Amino acid sequence: MNTKSVSELLEQDVTLQQVSVKGWVRTFRANRFIALNDGSTINNIQCVVDFENFDEALLKRITTGAAIHIEGELVESQGKGQNVEIVVSSIEVLGDSDPETYPIQPKKHTFEFLRENAHLRTRTNTFSAVMRIKSTLSFAVHKYFTENGFYNMHTPMITGSDAEGAGEMFRITTLDAKNPPLDENGDVDFKQDFFGKEANLTVSGQLEAETYAMSLGKVYTFGPTFRAENSNTSRHLAEFWMIEPEVAFMDLAGNMDLAEDFIKSVISYVLEHNQEDLKFLDERLFNEEKSKPQTERSEMRLIEKLKFVTDNNFKRVSYTEAIDILRNSKPNKKKKFKYLINEWGADLQSEHERFLVEKHFKCPVILFDYPANIKAFYMRLNDDEKTVRAMDVLFPGIGEIIGGSQREERLDVLKQKMAALDIPEEELWWYLDLRKYGTAVHSGFGLGFERLVMFATGMSNIRDVIPYPRTPQNAEF
Ligand code: ATP
Ligand code: MN
Repeated sequence: MNTKSVSELLEQDVTLQQVSVKGWVRTFRANRFIALNDGSTINNIQCVVDFENFDEALLKRITTGAAIHIEGELVESQGKGQNVEIVVSSIEVLGDSDPETYPIQPKKHTFEFLRENAHLRTRTNTFSAVMRIKSTLSFAVHKYFTENGFYNMHTPMITGSDAEGAGEMFRITTLDAKNPPLDENGDVDFKQDFFGKEANLTVSGQLEAETYAMSLGKVYTFGPTFRAENSNTSRHLAEFWMIEPEVAFMDLAGNMDLAEDFIKSVISYVLEHNQEDLKFLDERLFNEEKSKPQTERSEMRLIEKLKFVTDNNFKRVSYTEAIDILRNSKPNKKKKFKYLINEWGADLQSEHERFLVEKHFKCPVILFDYPANIKAFYMRLNDDEKTVRAMDVLFPGIGEIIGGSQREERLDVLKQKMAALDIPEEELWWYLDLRKYGTAVHSGFGLGFERLVMFATGMSNIRDVIPYPRTPQNAEF
């Protein structure tokens, strides 16, 4: 007999004589009702056991967490809560569980506890829903770009340049940590290292993606990036996945259009394809919010928030306008911000970004034209020579979700900026070549995939949207 998934069985609109299903026991109530889940859906299938027909020793082994194989008849359910259920004719225990020590008991666990048991936390409704949605989102990303004429490329994870991530990179080396070879100045001699020079894990695939944009036109990379920043926040990981499109002949306005259209498209896709998981997470978040003081509660429920994003235009605001708003804002005047905004040129902190999005505009915001000196060297200098064509997309509850820009396409300007920042031309000779041979306006952005998943699932800690989070002092599993 063909074994079917729980999701397939629950979607049956006819009853069936014989069905076979395998999964893990969530609960076994009254020696009669097994709630079985196999990960294919948030819903369990109810398996009804007539205990008189089974050995007591066998029934004792049906405990939370055990893997079992059930055969029986799929019938219309007598009880509430499901349309169909299985009247069990045979039970095979595939793998016993130990009810004394199994960590995932049928009760509410804290997320902290579940992080310590991350290898088993996807056996809960919350984490299985989050990871199913994450999988859908990942597919939606590739679908969006493929359907819009982009090529997927894999940018390298190991990089020989540290132009972008100075100080925030993880070094890769095969040298003996205790006794590295030294050069004549007494410094570590990286010429003798594996790559013949210093190498690091990448912080972004952008520079390499630019090279492909300048030949293939529209490309994107979607892969792991690494940052050794010691910021133990709920929005930063040391290893995270970044989606980075890069497009030739596209300016900053086009970049904003792309970012907005892209986010709306992938969120719509999840709204359409993960309704049950979203309904569960919507309810979960609503209950969690109830325990917060009124003023800190979100005004919208999860699904409402997602629909709000797909149905409304993002507000586009220049950095200069944003500074005016922030300077005159209540929390600034009452000195409630940790970092007060006094003058043009200040770097925006997450408290400012969240004020703009959550309190002032109450919608996603795209800030653009930032001061040149707080942004990276490769961003296109504006004619005012003070600002660059940068954009950050800011989201409620998340803060920055996208950082991007129009890239500097003028060789002389780019060289000047690199010189000012002591970035050696030899290190990026290939990047400069793009400006020598057929240069053109081009743009792109980076979107942190886990931050997108946080938004789509309503999870408030980035550690809960990646299977095994890597953060300072933590690389378990
Ligand atoms: P932030 O100010 O939040 O640290 P950033 O300015 O360092 O972000 P970028 O360098 O522009 O971010 O990276 C592009 C995107 O990658 C960000 O918009 C964000 O979504 C994501 N991102 C950046 N750093 C991290 C991190 N440590 N963990 C997870 N996602 C990140
Ligand atoms: Mn950062």
